[in-house]
Amino acid sequence: MSAKVTKIGVLTSGGDSPGMNAAIRAVVRTSIYRGLDVFGIMRGYSGMIEDDIYQMNSRSVANIIQRGGTILKTARSKDFYNEDGRKKAYANLVKRGIDGLVVIGGDGSFTGAYKLSKEFGIPCIGLPGTIDKDLYGTDFTIGFDTAANTAVQAIDKIRDTAESHDRLFVVEVMGRHAGYIALHSGIATGAENILMPEVNTTLDDMVASLSEQEKRKKLVNLVIVAEGYTPDPSQPHLKGAAETTRLMEERLKGLEIRVTILGHIQRGGPPSCMDRFIASRMGFHAVECLIEGRHNVMVGILHNNMHYTPLEIAIREKQKISEDWMNIVKILAS
Ligand code: ATP
Repeated sequence: MSAKVTKIGVLTSGGDSPGMNAAIRAVVRTSIYRGLDVFGIMRGYSGMIEDDIYQMNSRSVANIIQRGGTILKTARSKDFYNEDGRKKAYANLVKRGIDGLVVIGGDGSFTGAYKLSKEFGIPCIGLPGTIDKDLYGTDFTIGFDTAANTAVQAIDKIRDTAESHDRLFVVEVMGRHAGYIALHSGIATGAENILMPEVNTTLDDMVASLSEQEKRKKLVNLVIVAEGYTPDPSQPHLKGAAETTRLMEERLKGLEIRVTILGHIQRGGPPSCMDRFIASRMGFHAVECLIEGRHNVMVGILHNNMHYTPLEIAIREKQKISEDWMNIVKILAS
């Protein structure tokens, strides 16, 4: 039986995502309701190493549920990759008696948490905070819904101008190595083609599909490209909309293509109802897990039920793009 957790540290790490504040709020308020002390660790693992840690109360998280970003700030810490860095970080937790951690971030942040738990025995809970939605063991990640909705709003506007001029627009959305924002926003905006790292669509496929649609007199004006998509597998360093467009223009001479890269607007803005809702549920259950002794898991939501995936599995496995969805893209864009 593991020792009772009495003092919880909470941090956000890796890329920020809308809804992280709602998760922090849920962790802080649940901890206080359950009689535990709770500490905010600033700038992810950097703040843990640099001892930038402060005690939080109910009021510390007032009026933040509707704000994008993270009040605890986030960072990528090089020093945390080394055992020495983690030793220093753990010593700062011990100094305050922090005996349980909630880490809100992506799989990199969970790897850090997993190492800390293995090396020092401190129980860690991961909350999936990433707009990329590529984590295994959860249907949604905190921030994905907001980012996908931001992309949809922007793409709708681009479609208006694309339709008016009969032009082809290639729009790049975020997602790092994953294509979920591209897939969801592409289906939701009726894009003719969606290019994602997980699906091997070659330039030949693209050119063939554009020519075939042109023959049918279908007006093709919208292609969504995930930032991690590689148009030419023999040159894996070439990624995203700009490279895809350049290579398409080389093959389809005379075709006028406009490129838009949506970029960081997808990370910001008030979180959607969905992101606030799942972040609140996950934050609550993270504290319950620490209290109940269900340690070193990622708290997710699968089929609308809470789902707990051991951190080592959450780190190793990836969510897969369903073939069903790809079929939907093909049929609906015809
Ligand atoms: P996002 O999905 O938004 O990129 P992430 O959590 O995957 O989020 P990373 O930059 O991969 O983002 O990781 C965040 C931080 O977690 C790193 O800066 C580092 O401090 C820590 N971390 C990542 N991988 C490891 C590792 N292998 N060992 C120790 N710490 C790690």
